[in-house]
Amino acid sequence: MQRQDDDGVLIAVNSTHGPHRQRFTLGHELGHWLLGHQDAVDNELYRNELASRGESTVEIEANAFAAALLMPEDWLREDLAAGVLDPMDEEQIDSLARRYNVSPQAMTFRLINLNLMRT
Ligand SMILES: [Zn+2]
Repeated sequence: MQRQDDDGVLIAVNSTHGPHRQRFTLGHELGHWLLGHQDAVDNELYRNELASRGESTVEIEANAFAAALLMPEDWLREDLAAGVLDPMDEEQIDSLARRYNVSPQAMTFRLINLNLMRT
């Protein structure tokens, strides 16, 4: 959730969510702010209903910002210098997810988007 007023910007996350989701949400909301999405005020419903389906340009951009922030392309390419990952190699996906402190699902999407995993 993000709110902006004359005093500045407040970004809040749901403390009942897991740490991976909290980190991604922080990156997502930071993305809205840094990308100038002043009108993109997220609440949980909006995020769940629209962002997860990727139907809004600003939500897609904020998700891409969060992914790039948490899983920098240069670092991943260095980690995977040996080549692209096999999607069935859950052990390596889990290892990378732990290294970057993200969920295996987020890591999988990032690797696919960077063409670092066969689909
Ligand atoms: Zn958003």
